[in-house]
Amino acid sequence: MRVAVVCGGVGAARLLVGVRRVLPAESIVAVANVGDDLELHGLHVSPDLDTITYTTSGAVSQERGWGLEGETWQAMDMIRRYGGVDWFNLGDRDLGTHLYRTHRLRQGATLAEATAEIIAAWGLDFTLLPVTNDRLRTMVTTVDEGEISFQEYFVRRQHDVAVTSVRFDGAELTRPAPGVLEALRDADRIVVAPSNPAVSIDPVLAVPGVRAVLAERREHVIAVSPIIGGRALKGPADRLLTELGYPASAEGVAKWYADVVGTLVIDTVDADLAPAIEALGLHVIVTDTVMSTPEITDTLARTTCGLS
Ligand code: GDP
Ligand code: CA
Repeated sequence: MRVAVVCGGVGAARLLVGVRRVLPAESIVAVANVGDDLELHGLHVSPDLDTITYTTSGAVSQERGWGLEGETWQAMDMIRRYGGVDWFNLGDRDLGTHLYRTHRLRQGATLAEATAEIIAAWGLDFTLLPVTNDRLRTMVTTVDEGEISFQEYFVRRQHDVAVTSVRFDGAELTRPAPGVLEALRDADRIVVAPSNPAVSIDPVLAVPGVRAVLAERREHVIAVSPIIGGRALKGPADRLLTELGYPASAEGVAKWYADVVGTLVIDTVDADLAPAIEALGLHVIVTDTVMSTPEITDTLARTTCGLS
């Protein structure tokens, strides 16, 4: 059994924790979003890759869901002292990751190579691939300020602004990182993690070739709805679906993914939406999807990986 997991950040990282417990590491390839990446203080920051790394290695801050547990913020204090860019928090230890990654990129390593080195150093033995080594940036058009970068929207504005569209700058010029299309073609199952469809999964699908493989292999693609009872557990997925013209519900997620996903896993609280989703041409699995305990997480992982 080989599984490719299409990943954003927090929602994906939590599911991957379960997938790693139910499948051997060599069967797992995670293909991650890089549309959130940004350059800060001269450093290349890859939030979703790092959230996956820190979460699956158990080092993530449980409270924040990103960054490291027990982190300190002295470098940020210094940046603030100088009047530098201080709206995006980087912890002192986390900065070491960005220093290392940036150094390796400047030496000529690819993002995939630097990522492989970083996860190996955390003792992780599954495969984590950025969807592309090339530059891809999620851009968000807001009503009040026009187009801004994803992190300006997500972190600086706390996603509390009205959005009219999302665009993936540079996507058409990117190539999938080595191994990405192969992993998606060879997997017995392609799992689309419960990540934000509009800004975490769509940028992955925007890399030429990726959407086509999922569409071709649609019957083997299973997604977990990040919308439960009409709401995202955290973040703007519900609001973005509405703003972009979809219902903020598991049914909206089904509509969003209809061309690339054959089966949608929805939460038990949304069981009554199953007929409407089936009418869209998707199979539906109803189960607990809020990964609040290891048991629920592992059951969800088994379900998505086709082990039960
Ligand atoms: P980010 O890149 O860190 O913002 O995170 P993602 O895009 O991967 O995930 C954000 C989405 O994950 C939100 O819409 C949440 O509703 C969803 N999510 C987080 N935890 C869970 C969970 O336990 N179950 C489900 N079904 N969705 C979750
Ligand atoms: Ca993200």
